Amino acid sequence: MSNTTELAIATASEVASALSGMQTGGHEQVVHFYDQATGLKAIVAIHNTHLGPALGGTRMWAYKSEAEALTDVLRLSRGMTYKAAITGLNLGGGKAVIIGDAKNQKSEAMLRRFGKFVNGLAGRYITAEDVNISTRDIEYIAMETKHVTGLPEILGGGGDPSPVTAYGVFLGMKASAKEAYGSDSLKGKKVLVQGVGKVGQSLVEQLSNEGAQVWVNDINQDNLKAITTKVSGVQVADSATMFDLDIDIYAPCALGATVNSDSLSRLRCSIIAGAANNQLADEDIHGQMVKEKGILYAPDFLINAGGLINVSVELDGYNRQRALLKTENIYDAAMNVFSIAKAQNIPTIQAAKHLAEQRIDGVGRIRLSY
Ligand code: NAD
Repeated sequence: MSNTTELAIATASEVASALSGMQTGGHEQVVHFYDQATGLKAIVAIHNTHLGPALGGTRMWAYKSEAEALTDVLRLSRGMTYKAAITGLNLGGGKAVIIGDAKNQKSEAMLRRFGKFVNGLAGRYITAEDVNISTRDIEYIAMETKHVTGLPEILGGGGDPSPVTAYGVFLGMKASAKEAYGSDSLKGKKVLVQGVGKVGQSLVEQLSNEGAQVWVNDINQDNLKAITTKVSGVQVADSATMFDLDIDIYAPCALGATVNSDSLSRLRCSIIAGAANNQLADEDIHGQMVKEKGILYAPDFLINAGGLINVSVELDGYNRQRALLKTENIYDAAMNVFSIAKAQNIPTIQAAKHLAEQRIDGVGRIRLSY
């Protein structure tokens, strides 16, 4: 295989730190896969299966070391447990990473080998798409295992989950408006959407249809051009000054950790609600800081669960209407989180995590007793 980048050998302290992450994170199982013939190096992390099989996408990334990949898959799989639990799905949390450069190293053989490995887990882990894994890649994986979801529509799957994710984020934002302003109308609200990729673009369209005033920011000029051409009245915000804008709602739809001490020292919005995973740079510190600033934070793993709901519906035979209906539960779930956070005077992220943990403990125990 050409252009194979050498993976840095992890230092003993890197491995020790990743393993301690596994212990403190409470993971059930972590499996490393190597296949010399196809160059496959993958890790599957199964965080929790109390509510059902662990479902979570596969991410392909050129990690600098195996320890870095392990840290990422442990963090991501834990997030999936919370997302499935709070959304009321009978699924656990898991995730997979393939270590490598997707542009140069991904091949049909590698993906099918990965499918065989997933199959060996006998359904404890169900895979799906994530960063750098397309529906085409999912087709290859599906040739070797039935424990995969997120197939293209022409093969009976749900296709790209992004519009469903965007719908859930939109509803989570409306619930936030209801809590913060007493009405869930977003008409006239000034919203900054950071990241106008697949989810961001669909969200901007829904916001614009509702009469919101939208600013967008992206490092990809093509995506900026696409959305400003498609939706009239959308304005582009400069990266250096966007957090100083006079806005009502900030919607992080690009990367994680954008809600941090720097952005919070400048943001003057009343709501943060977006699609990105792990928006709070530090859940404890910035969850509390957001609360102290009087900003209502819609927990990311709750309001961006539409994509997970979409692929989970496919497991019983895909139906778009059903996926959208189930996604609509995000509105009430968000209102419930806000009300608990207010009653207990805790950050909304903590309230959401407590709710998820309660369901894992309560329903999980009943399930295990069968
Ligand atoms: P995407 O890759 O299609 O879009 C991401 C956009 O963010 C791109 O346009 C990219 O150029 C932009 N971006 C990257 N870095 C940026 C930066 N520093 N500043 C501004 N813009 C930047 O991804 P997506 O599918 O739209 O997902 C968006 C986010 O939502 C991701 O964090 C993803 O993990 C999360 N998410 C997506 C789904 C889904 O169904 N697609 C589900 C749950 C969570």
